[in-house]
Amino acid sequence: MTGTSDPGEADAGCDATLPPLAAVIARHGLQPKRALGQHFLLDPSLCGRIARAARPGTSAVILEVGPGPGGLTRALLAAGAARVVAVEKDRRCVAALGELQARYPDRLEIVEGDALAFDIATLGTARIGIAANLPYNIGTRLLLRWLERVELIESMTLMFQKEVAERITAAGGKDYGGLSVRAQWLCTCERLFDVSPRAFVPPPGVVSTVVRLVPRPAPLAPAEPDALDAVARAAFGQRRKMLRRALRGLTQDPLALLESAGISPQARAETLSVAEFCALARAWSAMRHT
Ligand code: SAM
Repeated sequence: MTGTSDPGEADAGCDATLPPLAAVIARHGLQPKRALGQHFLLDPSLCGRIARAARPGTSAVILEVGPGPGGLTRALLAAGAARVVAVEKDRRCVAALGELQARYPDRLEIVEGDALAFDIATLGTARIGIAANLPYNIGTRLLLRWLERVELIESMTLMFQKEVAERITAAGGKDYGGLSVRAQWLCTCERLFDVSPRAFVPPPGVVSTVVRLVPRPAPLAPAEPDALDAVARAAFGQRRKMLRRALRGLTQDPLALLESAGISPQARAETLSVAEFCALARAWSAMRHT
């Protein structure tokens, strides 16, 4: 990780002829709605930092979820995105983005709708980049959904609350869990930098972290997705217990399962690598099919 971003860094080169975001918010009456997780980023330099981390020039299409008043959207365009498709649920924000859309008619498309219902397969045949300051209440659900279609994705540069970012990237210990296993099985996952609550309007109660996930050319090790989820759920469901006990809910013979996966019965979930979870999932699949 490379430090924390606070408001007030040098400008990122967004289109200076666009009205300030604060003026857009005032003109369109964008009183933040808690139910939509609205915490807006108004600092162009911070938006620029997130946008550059997304390397938008390398993808044919960048999907942005929740553009709000458009700070990150502006920065993605300034950082060279050929085409940004921005999905926003709040009609007020969609109206506020009209001016930006008029400025970039060929490069920016605003879609009014729920990102949870948005099918990324509709964005064309080239793999897409995803960049977003995610609404906290649906961030994990969106990530899990995208991981199901990871073959369509080139990279994801996403801001989560710090605690979720730690769960995604943990390689053991208390934050390590099913989300870590699923994400790291399919992607390399890196925490880039923290963002102070002071950077947002209104400030959230927690620190945020930008995470970059890049899908692997192939999953880290062979495993059936459902089996991987099942063994992770069972193992982390009783994370303090040795696996020979924790896996009792999964099979009547945890010792045989662990032996065939080559894992010590004394091991605990928090100490297993993602590759070992895959071995456990393969052994469990094989056990079920015999
Ligand atoms: N990108 C903007 C920024 O950085 O200032 C806004 C980020 S704010 C944390 C989250 C945005 O997601 C809000 O604009 C909110 O209206 C939008 N949003 C919330 N739920 C959504 C959903 N289900 N689908 C699409 N957008 C959603």
